[in-house]
Amino acid sequence: MLVNMNDILHPAKEGKYGVGFFNAVNVEMARAIIETAEELNSPVMLGTAEILLPVMELERVAEYLIPMAKKAAVPVCVHFDHGLTFERCMEALKLGFTSVMYDCSTKSYEENLEAVGEMVRICHGMGVTVEGELGHVGDNFGSGKLANPADYFTNPDTAADFVKKTGVDALAVAVGNAHGDYAFPPKLDFDRIDVISKKTGIPLVLHGGSGLADDDFRTAVKLGVSKINIFTDIDKAGKAGIEAGLAAGEKTMMGLIPYEINAMKKVVAEKIRLFGSDGKA
Ligand SMILES: [Zn+2]
Repeated sequence: MLVNMNDILHPAKEGKYGVGFFNAVNVEMARAIIETAEELNSPVMLGTAEILLPVMELERVAEYLIPMAKKAAVPVCVHFDHGLTFERCMEALKLGFTSVMYDCSTKSYEENLEAVGEMVRICHGMGVTVEGELGHVGDNFGSGKLANPADYFTNPDTAADFVKKTGVDALAVAVGNAHGDYAFPPKLDFDRIDVISKKTGIPLVLHGGSGLADDDFRTAVKLGVSKINIFTDIDKAGKAGIEAGLAAGEKTMMGLIPYEINAMKKVVAEKIRLFGSDGKA
């Protein structure tokens, strides 16, 4: 069934388990995520991000994701990740996404506050939930790489002010996490997660989940992280699945697709079990 983020994250926060958010830029990814969630009786979040739209346009993504979520036997939230512009977030709303992240984390605090506050007023009027980001989660690669990531860590007092003034439903935090492959083993600031969670009282979101150690997830979830974003792991698993199919002598897409889906399902299942959302649908 199609639900919004609060329908999934409020019980998760209460029950102290995490829920995965997986990007699904093609139908195979969407199938791998939803079928695994159904098999493990887990709520799940999936969607796409603004930077992934060159691969598959928002309207195309909505055309398969929304009906698949509606038909699913478990709660599914279709979420627009890292919306960077007001217009794209409005487009997601019109297409039936039940949740949006409006990422104004590279703007000034005042601009972030004002923009996300306005987004919350519009979205809440339509039953759509909103995720904001405070501090800035950078990349491990290219132009997004931060010279000193600690300079961009989320400040707990500012986070409390931000949540109170914007009314945002979930908050992405910068606590030593980064997008993409980690160049070095990441070191999360767990004390910071704990304090931010206590001061804000809302579900926290950990971006850049691919590559973190299993114990890091368990600790982060225990301290208040309710949503964990995973893309790189599932993306690479799909590719590895196709390679395995080629190595096994498959010569057509039809023959390769089951390899692709099964490889991604394995990763999704591992994450669902690790976060503890299995059996919670
Ligand atoms: Zn992210």
